[in-house]
Amino acid sequence: MTIYNFSAGPAVLPKAVLQQVQAEMVDWHGSGMSVMEMSHRGKEFMGIAAAAEADLREVMGIPANYKVLFLQGGASSQFAMVPMNLLRGKASADYLNTGEWSKKAIKEAKKYGAVNVVATSEDKNFSYAPAFDTWKRDANAAYLHYTPNETIGGVEIFDIPDSGDTPLVADMSSTILSRPMDVSKFGLIYAGAQKNIGPAGLTIVIVREDLIGETLKGTPTMFDYKTHADNESMYNTPPTFGMYTAGLVFKWLQSNGGLTAMEKTNREKAGLLYSKLDSTGFYNSPVAPANRSLMNIPFTLADAALDDAFLKGAKEANLLQLKGHRSVGGMRASIYNAMPLAGVQALVAYMNDFEKSHG
Ligand SMILES: *Cc1c(COP(=O)(O)O)cnc(C)c1O
Repeated sequence: MTIYNFSAGPAVLPKAVLQQVQAEMVDWHGSGMSVMEMSHRGKEFMGIAAAAEADLREVMGIPANYKVLFLQGGASSQFAMVPMNLLRGKASADYLNTGEWSKKAIKEAKKYGAVNVVATSEDKNFSYAPAFDTWKRDANAAYLHYTPNETIGGVEIFDIPDSGDTPLVADMSSTILSRPMDVSKFGLIYAGAQKNIGPAGLTIVIVREDLIGETLKGTPTMFDYKTHADNESMYNTPPTFGMYTAGLVFKWLQSNGGLTAMEKTNREKAGLLYSKLDSTGFYNSPVAPANRSLMNIPFTLADAALDDAFLKGAKEANLLQLKGHRSVGGMRASIYNAMPLAGVQALVAYMNDFEKSHG
C-alpha cells in the first residue's frame, strides 16, 4: 500500500534511504554493530560523520571558510544561540517578522539584547513577506535575522536579502536543500533536521568562521559555537544516528541530480497544487502569490464546515497528516524533497473528487 505523508515535521524521508537504514540497521557494513551502538570516536563513526559533512558541503556548495556543525536542541535552541554568539559586543540585532517562527526567534533574542523588527506582515495574518526596500534596518545591528520559509504560514522569501556588511542569519529549517542557495551570502544558516534533512534530534548550523568566538558573558559551553567548531561537533556525544541518516539523505540528493534537480521537481509539485487552488472557488490559498512556499502549502475550503469530511476522506485515500496548523486553519500539505510528484498528483486527484461530490 502506498501512503503519502504530508506532515510538516517530522516529515517524509526518501523511501530508498529508509530501506538502506533498514538493511544496515543491525550490522553496519560488516562491523557487526548498528550505527546506534558505535562510539562516536571510533573509526567507523568518524568516517560516517566526515562523509556526511563532505557530502553536505558538496550538495550546498559551502565555502571553505564556513564551519558545519552537527548539534542537538532543535532550531529552537538556535533562537538563543544566535544572539549569544553573534551580538559580539553590539547592543541590538535586526529581525524580520513573517510569522510564527520569526516571532519565537524575536522573543528569545530579546532576552539577550535589543531587537529591531525591520518589518512585519502581522497586519495581514502573516500571509505575505514585506518587500525588502521597506525594511527599516539599523546600521548598527549585529546581524539581520529572517525566516526564508515560514513553515506554518507557508510564506517563502525567494530572493536572498542583500544585508551588505551586516551578517545575514537565516532559519532555514523548512527550506534548506529545497533549491540551490548561495551560502556565501549568509553569515549563519541553521535548520532542525526533521523537515528536509533527516530524523528529529539533529540540528545543522553553517557558520562563517570569523563570526565564531565572541560570546556573551555567561554563555554555557554547549551554547558556544566555538566549542563545537573546535571539536568537529564531537565535544560531547553528537546525535550519531541522525547524522548517519542525514548522510544517506545527502547521498540520495547527489544521486538524484542535487539541488538543481530538487528545485525543478519542487516547482513542478508546488505548481500543480497551486494551480488547483487557483482554478476554483472551492479551495483557497491564503498566501500572496509572490511568497507561496514550495515546501508548505496551507489551503482552506470555502466552506470550513467540510474540513472534517475532507480530512477523513483524505485519510481513506492514504493521504495523511493534512490537517492545517491551528493559527491558519484548514489544511496544509507539506511537500518536502522526499514527497514524490505522484503524491501531489494523488492529492490533486482527491481534491478534484472531493469538490465534485461536495461542491
Ligand atoms: C520546525 C521549525 C522550527 C522549530 O524546530 P525545532 O527543531 O522543533 O526546534 C523553527 N523554525 C522553523 C522555520 C521551523 O520550521
